[in-house]
Amino acid sequence: MQIWDPQHECMPREEIAQLQLERLQATLNRVYKNVTCYRNKFNAAGIVPEDVQSLADLAKLPFTTKEDLRLNYPYGMFAVPLREVVRIHSSSGTTGKPTVVGYTKNDLKVWSNLVARFMTAAGVTSDDVVQIAFGYGLFTGAFGLHYGSELIGASVIPFGAGNTEKQIMIMQDYRTTALVSTPSYAITVAEHMEKMGVDPKSLLLKVGLFGGEPWSEGLRRDIESRLGITATDNYGLSEVIGPGVAGECLCKCGMHISEDAFLAEIIDPETCETLPPGSVGELVLTSLTKEAFPMVRYRTRDITSLDYSACDCGRTTVRMSKTMGRSDDMLIIKGVNVYPSQIEDVLFAVEGCQPHYQLVVDKQGAMDTLEIRIEVTENIFFDEMRKQKEFLDNVARRIHSVLGVGASVKLVEPKSIPRVEGKAIRVIDKRK
Ligand SMILES: [Zn+2]
Repeated sequence: MQIWDPQHECMPREEIAQLQLERLQATLNRVYKNVTCYRNKFNAAGIVPEDVQSLADLAKLPFTTKEDLRLNYPYGMFAVPLREVVRIHSSSGTTGKPTVVGYTKNDLKVWSNLVARFMTAAGVTSDDVVQIAFGYGLFTGAFGLHYGSELIGASVIPFGAGNTEKQIMIMQDYRTTALVSTPSYAITVAEHMEKMGVDPKSLLLKVGLFGGEPWSEGLRRDIESRLGITATDNYGLSEVIGPGVAGECLCKCGMHISEDAFLAEIIDPETCETLPPGSVGELVLTSLTKEAFPMVRYRTRDITSLDYSACDCGRTTVRMSKTMGRSDDMLIIKGVNVYPSQIEDVLFAVEGCQPHYQLVVDKQGAMDTLEIRIEVTENIFFDEMRKQKEFLDNVARRIHSVLGVGASVKLVEPKSIPRVEGKAIRVIDKRK
C-alpha cells in the first residue's frame, strides 16, 4: 500500500504528540496576537497562550463555534492581512450568513498535500483518471479533491455536480477510474446506469472517494456492489480546511486524521466535557498549521469516536469512525438519542430495503412518534399481505432492539422519495 507522506503519517505516537504541542503553542501565540475574537475569549477565560504547556492543557481553552464565525463575518477570524490571502471559500451555511474561510499560498500547498494523503490511502495513483462530481464554487469539496489529484499526478476531470447522464457518458468515454462525490450521489449514478442499461463492469471505475455527508456501512456495501468499486470515506469541513482532515486507507477501519495538521478531541455535546479515548461524542478540532484561518477547539457538531490502536496499513495516526451524524441532527425521541445513520444501518441489514428512506418525527399528545418510510424494490411482495407484514414487523423489531425506541414502519412506492444531486434529506421533524 502506498503512503503519500510516510514521515508524517507513520510517525511514532510520542513524536506526533511533541510536534502537536509545538505547533499548538505557535498557533495559540499567533491567534492571540492577530485575532481579536480569540484574544477576547482567552482573556475572558483568564488564559494566556503560555498557560498551555501540555496537550492536556488544551481543555482549559474556550471552544470556537459556528456562531463565533458568524459574529465575525466576513473576515474577522482571519489571522493574516487580506493581501496574504490567495483563496476564499465559504461553508454551506444552512441558516443565515455563510461563514467565510481564507487560505494563504502555503495553506493551499498544505491542503493539497493533505488531500493527496487520503487519496493515496484510498489507492489513487498518477495512473488514475479522477472525475469530480462535486460542485465547483465557494464549497471546498471540488477544489480540495481537484488540487489533491493534480498533486498526485492523476488526470482530473473537473465535471462538477449533476447532469448524471452526461456524467456517465464521460465516465465511459474518458475512462474514469475514480469517482469523487457524495455517497448519495453515487447511488443516483448507479440508478441512472441501471436505467440507461450501462453495465458498471464495462467501465474502468475502481474506486470512489465519498464525503460531504454521513453514511453507513450498509450504504457502502450497496454502492460497492452496484458500481463494482471500492468505496472509501473521507472527512473534512470548510471551517477547518475542507476535505483533507481525515480519510480511509484500504483497511476501511476508520479515517486516519492528519494529526500533524489537526488536533482532535471528543467531547460530550451536552456537558462539553472532554471524553476518554474510544468514547462516542462530538469531534472538536484545532488546526496546527493553518496561517490565514486558524481554528482553536472548533466544535464540528459531528458525532464520531477516535481509535488510537495500530492500523494494518502502517500509518500511526488516530482513526475517526464514520460520522454518525451531527449533534444538531441528533433526534431526541422519547428521551433517547437517535442518529439517522443508526436507522440506515438497520435498514440495510434487511433484505429488500432500498437505500431510500425518510424519517418523520412528530408528536401525538405529549408523546414523540417516529415513522420510517422505506422504499422497496419494484418486485418485492406488494401483492402478498402476509409477507409484507412479516417484513414490516422484522424492520420494526430490529429498530427497537438497536435504538431502544419503537417506530412505525411504512412501505412507500418505488421512487417516491425525492432524489437529490447533493445531500439527502433524511429527516422531517414536524415537532419544530
Ligand atoms: Zn490504515
